[in-house]
Amino acid sequence: MGFKALRVEGLTVSYGARLALQDISLEVPRGQVMALIGPNGAGKSTLIRAASGILPLQSGKIRTNGDELTSLPPMQRARCIAVVPQAVALPPAFTVWETVLMGRTPYLNFLGQTSAKDDIIVRRALQRVDALDFADRRVGELSGGEQQRILLARALAQSTPILLLDEPTAHLDMQYQVALMQTVCQLAHEDNLAVMIALHDLNLAARYADSVALLVQGRLEAIGTPIQVLTPERISQAYHLPVQVVSHPFLQVPLILPFDRTASLAGEGRQKGGE
Ligand code: ADP
Ligand code: MG
Repeated sequence: MGFKALRVEGLTVSYGARLALQDISLEVPRGQVMALIGPNGAGKSTLIRAASGILPLQSGKIRTNGDELTSLPPMQRARCIAVVPQAVALPPAFTVWETVLMGRTPYLNFLGQTSAKDDIIVRRALQRVDALDFADRRVGELSGGEQQRILLARALAQSTPILLLDEPTAHLDMQYQVALMQTVCQLAHEDNLAVMIALHDLNLAARYADSVALLVQGRLEAIGTPIQVLTPERISQAYHLPVQVVSHPFLQVPLILPFDRTASLAGEGRQKGGE
């Protein structure tokens, strides 16, 4: 398969009269992770849904190379882009294995039969999210964090060059947040996927993303490397909260610290007391 970047060109999306995205253009090359950040309601989920081809576009185009995504038949689109949506309920009665096997739907023959190859791919996807041990359990009996890993496994089973994730770390504890971000980086850097991931944890974006796109009220406010985008001025303004950005003690990444007024007064007090 050739080079398949995800390209968003002049994308505008509305829900009825409400404009949710305005003239967004960006490109996620294969081999890279782009973090999508921005306050609640900024349009991150809308961008992910639009990029996956499931929302009608008011104007603009979503392309993978020359192909216009919206003109591809659904099965072909599903071989191109996989999505881990924000907070979806998985059908609770299916087993984990059956759920991840659903990711193979775009490849099944006209009888809907699965092959040994599908089994190998499902097994590998489950291993990747450290969930092979509960392959036989019902999805409804899993914790929120476990379900979130199964959603990623299902997307991986789709074997696509482009992967979109919408706040996939939301229900994960620290260990699995890091594990998931490491997996996401491996998928981009080793397996050469183009990954776009909406994150509300700015420090995860700073640490793991190759590039960061900041959305504010449906507009692309800034795009660039984490160091370029995650400046105190920009983040304070976007989130309506003073923040401090300090350098990680031994990694070349910024750390973002919320800095509310009480904290700042307490900090001043401590500084004075120490003098
Ligand atoms: P984010 O993911 O950044 O929190 P969303 O993309 O979910 O933001 O939402 C962007 C804006 O679009 C918000 O103002 C939200 O209220 C609105 N919105 C989202 N989904 C719908 C919908 N299905 N119908 C109408 N408005 C929506
Ligand atoms: Mg969202």
